[in-house]
Amino acid sequence: MHKIAGLSINAWKAKDPILNNVMKMNEVFWTNPHYGNKQENPIVQAEQVKSAEERLNRFAKYIIKAFPETEPMEGIIESPLVEIPFMQKNLEKSYGTKIAGKLLLKCDSHLPISGSIKARGGIYEVLKRAEEIAMKHGGLKRTDNYGILASDDYKELFSKYSIAVGSTGNLGMSIGIISAKLGFKVTVHMSADAKQWKKDKLTSLGVIVKEYDDDYSKAVEEGRKEASLDPDCHFIDDENSMDLLLGYATAATRLKKQLKDMSITVDEDHPLFVYLPCGVGGGPGGITYGLKLAFEDDVHCFFAEPTHSPCMTLGLMTGLHDKVSVQDFGIDNKTEADGLAVGRPSALVSSMMTTMLSGSYTIEDRRLFELLKEMAETEGHYLEPSALAGAFGPIQLLSAPEGREYLMDQKLLDKMNQSTHVIWATGGSMVPKDMMELYLSKS
Ligand SMILES: *Cc1c(COP(=O)(O)O)cnc(C)c1O
Repeated sequence: MHKIAGLSINAWKAKDPILNNVMKMNEVFWTNPHYGNKQENPIVQAEQVKSAEERLNRFAKYIIKAFPETEPMEGIIESPLVEIPFMQKNLEKSYGTKIAGKLLLKCDSHLPISGSIKARGGIYEVLKRAEEIAMKHGGLKRTDNYGILASDDYKELFSKYSIAVGSTGNLGMSIGIISAKLGFKVTVHMSADAKQWKKDKLTSLGVIVKEYDDDYSKAVEEGRKEASLDPDCHFIDDENSMDLLLGYATAATRLKKQLKDMSITVDEDHPLFVYLPCGVGGGPGGITYGLKLAFEDDVHCFFAEPTHSPCMTLGLMTGLHDKVSVQDFGIDNKTEADGLAVGRPSALVSSMMTTMLSGSYTIEDRRLFELLKEMAETEGHYLEPSALAGAFGPIQLLSAPEGREYLMDQKLLDKMNQSTHVIWATGGSMVPKDMMELYLSKS
């Protein structure tokens, strides 16, 4: 019989009965039994996040030059944090559950340059690479005005180097757009589920797009293989990259400031809950890491995955991390949420999340489209399907028995009226109008 890490499926199910429902592709809410344990050897250090923040600050003058729409934000790529009271009422009505506390939307859907959460990690890693090359071969100094990197001389320098990445769409968009702008040769290896409009947009910018008739893991594997043949090619490894993770992690201190500006307190008596859609894990994992540095035990992070692609849930539940895929458990990895169509989690993120993540839950595609429409109609925020996975989190936390149990264990039940829930909206502003209309018609 088919075994996974030496155990039969039935043995795995006996260890964790929730697996029955995960395998049936039913919606589940899973709380992490290792949450809060001390991590033996932390893989990332706080100073690394700080140094990533400083690097992004150095690049601000370049970003303004290359993307003038970022001028009002002084070249810092950041998204709004907004209240969504009408959506909150609507969710309460639809699900018959009161959402105690304040409900906010973090609009990474509207991050400048590439309109998704990938504008954090992806752009950061390319900028870091550009800085290394410019310092080594172009005389750039840390104290220079980085606006000079937009000059023809630097473009000429960068054109001798290439960048490659494997993606379901949005990472490819971020890497493609910033790399092409700097002058790099750039190749994006796209999985079958990547949307045509994303490929077209990249092609129009001079990005080489290679398509595969297979899922995300294949696109990454092919990209990695091809890039390894060229010593001047930097492969952005979504499954293992520390730099991507650090770029994402910089979101946390910015969120902290936004909350402060809105006079929202986060402390022991005012818990913060954050709901993050998860694909391979880099985005939500990096942000969770940053949030844990910024708020420690006062923040509770949950990942959201499609019922057909619960790779991180399986990786954490079994403790097998990247050594298990959804297909091993008979799950097909077929979802309309293209940013989340990932069958195997990042090894780096899965092991980091072992003690940091409060839990995860799964959501059906049908519900993503319902929530998409409701978010558009109640608040006027137009998001892509993946981005709605977070919106189901507060309902599940407050109504699923496992969610209630978590709140009880953490002694949070009587603090919920002072709590804040942040739904992390991960993409949407670049979706073409006809595509958005199609999404809106699907519920
Ligand atoms: C990539 C992506 C995610 C998840 O990020 P990972 O780093 O793959 O976990 C969520 N939503 C959207 C829209 C994305 O593009």
